[in-house]
Amino acid sequence: MNVKDMFGSLVFNAKTMTKYLSDKTTHSLLSTMEGSAPLDASIADEVAEGMKTWAMEHGVTHFTHWFQPLTGVTAEKHDAFINPDFDGGVIFSFSGKELLQAEPDASSFPSGGLRATFEARGYTAWDPTSPAFIKKTDDGLAVLCIPTVFCGYHGQALDKKTPLLRSQKALISQLYRVGKLFGLPETKRPYATLGPEQEYFLVDADLYAQRPDLIQTGRTLFGVRPARHQQLDDHYFGQIKPRILSFMAEVDNELWKLGIPAKTRHNEVAPAQFEIAPIFEEQNLAVDHNMLTMDVLQMVAARHNLVCLLHEKPFAGVNGSGKHNNWSITGPDGKNWLSPGKNPQENAKFLLILVAIIKAVDEHARLIRAAVAAPGNDHRLGANEAPPAIISIFLGDQLSDVVQQLKTGAAKSSKSSTSMEIGVDSLPKLSRDATDRNRTSPFAFTGNKFELRAVGSTASCATANTVLNLICAASLDEMLTQLENDLASGKEFHIALQELLTQEVNAHDKIIFDGNGYSEEWVKEAKRRGLPNIQTTPEALKAYLDENVVALFEKYNVLSREELKSRYVIGNQHYETIITLEAECSLRIAKTMILPAAISYATELADSADAVESDTLSKYAKEVADLVDDLLAGIQLLEKSLRKNIAKENVKAMEKVREAADALELIVPENQWPLPGYGEMFFVG
Ligand code: ADP
Ligand code: MG
Repeated sequence: MNVKDMFGSLVFNAKTMTKYLSDKTTHSLLSTMEGSAPLDASIADEVAEGMKTWAMEHGVTHFTHWFQPLTGVTAEKHDAFINPDFDGGVIFSFSGKELLQAEPDASSFPSGGLRATFEARGYTAWDPTSPAFIKKTDDGLAVLCIPTVFCGYHGQALDKKTPLLRSQKALISQLYRVGKLFGLPETKRPYATLGPEQEYFLVDADLYAQRPDLIQTGRTLFGVRPARHQQLDDHYFGQIKPRILSFMAEVDNELWKLGIPAKTRHNEVAPAQFEIAPIFEEQNLAVDHNMLTMDVLQMVAARHNLVCLLHEKPFAGVNGSGKHNNWSITGPDGKNWLSPGKNPQENAKFLLILVAIIKAVDEHARLIRAAVAAPGNDHRLGANEAPPAIISIFLGDQLSDVVQQLKTGAAKSSKSSTSMEIGVDSLPKLSRDATDRNRTSPFAFTGNKFELRAVGSTASCATANTVLNLICAASLDEMLTQLENDLASGKEFHIALQELLTQEVNAHDKIIFDGNGYSEEWVKEAKRRGLPNIQTTPEALKAYLDENVVALFEKYNVLSREELKSRYVIGNQHYETIITLEAECSLRIAKTMILPAAISYATELADSADAVESDTLSKYAKEVADLVDDLLAGIQLLEKSLRKNIAKENVKAMEKVREAADALELIVPENQWPLPGYGEMFFVG
């Protein structure tokens, strides 16, 4: 199949609809998908029938409501199209009712207290804004997937999609307001856009099978960096090895079939680390597509006898993986509003949005940190690695300069000589190419979008985007209200805007930092500025209990107090479960694999020292025996802490075990070491 035919061939998209649905129904569904009309339930039967016919031509036998519960992964429960007919056979059917709503037994999904088990009902409801698609397995099984939201009996959001959609609504209404204020045409419904760059590691499946830590926890709990790792910078953007390239090419094909616009593929910084980036799309769709991308990466890896590791930190000592969440907004005029504009009016609007974002991020840095909090991500954030746990904004030279000028209210010039003319005296000129690079900032302006780099590689982008939409909506709301009041009291528009920008920049520019985000100086400077530096998930999640945050979520109907609390509860439960699991796994490996190998070797050394009567060897044998003691002490500490099972103590004890084990890995003969080493796993291809 050529790429043109392949692209979207497994998606019930506009092209497919016209073939399987009447014009009227196609038109109605498309307007709902574009957000210009609510769903007309009376078309559901026809749509279901059309979907079924199309799907069965692809060999589909089952359908599923595909949703994103608070586990962080996607969920599906398959139902066959079959129904008994009168003479003992079956007919194939799929009704509008089945398309619109289903009731999976929800009792085992985390609800964080939102739903008692006696009212375990959960409902999935069709989200027509993300098209249905067909998931095919390697042996040709095919399932029709209907993207859905997942709610409790009383409508409580039990998933990640519902708050995302609600936050979009909040943002959209503010964007319309901006558009009106600037007298812009309303050509379409405004929307947020997302282009998530996904990082991942690949390891050989045979080596993976010998690492119980990777299998059970997704990361190595033991292991030392080999002499050669990422210091030559030769892997980043390096030539892609044939086995990897054939994996990547197949991933692209699978994604294209699903209508996912996979665009860029390359080697990343760490050995065995890679990245895939799509062309950006409407945010809800992009979130769904990223979830599918993670599935496809894992499925295709298996075909190549590889395993795709999505964990944030599979290997100590080299870079971890994140998801660069490129976020922007498209206004009702159909234009990207984070692009510095072509004329004075567009630039005034750009500055309004920019300052609103600066305000939003400064006021809600803790909330952003909470939105990306996960046990795996703690190994990246705050661990001397991209990006730091301190949330700050990178603007680049030119915009920072503009913002500095706004502080005094007299911003009239721009650093760049190639800037465009803006006729408004009181606002500065902007060049369109204001993008210098900074890889160390958690939230960087990159020319026509903001890139939130703090999202973990395993995470759903839904939570981070919910927060970005929401805080931006709230910030715009506040600023627009002031602006509208000023105008009502007779102030001239540009003067009112200028004053507002000056006021907000003065209040919030402490969040802007263009320097090296990894440096020690920044940690100190950030502290001086009063910016939060939150190292761990449990600390970060507390933001969800903050009264200001509750008020924010409730005001814009994104999450109720209870719904928000449930995210806090689930986040903490998840964190503790992961730490316990890692601690148990670490203990088991240390005790049953590493300790025996270490004891054998220490004994062997001691025996040899006796046999050859060498003092030097004796000394060495003693050193090794001491390390074995350390390991044993670590093991005992971990056993003790596991009995109490307090996450912090488990983490400390695991570190102690690892320290001794890693030291031993550098000593024990390679052929006696029970786990494949980093060196072996890194040079995959
Ligand atoms: P960079 O190298 O600065 O990260 P790229 O042009 O490679 O920039 O883009 C990275 C990601 O950002 C891609 O997924 C791209 O589609 C996405 N992107 C570009 N423009 C936008 C936008 N307006 N909204 C959201 N994402 C965008
Ligand atoms: Mg990028």
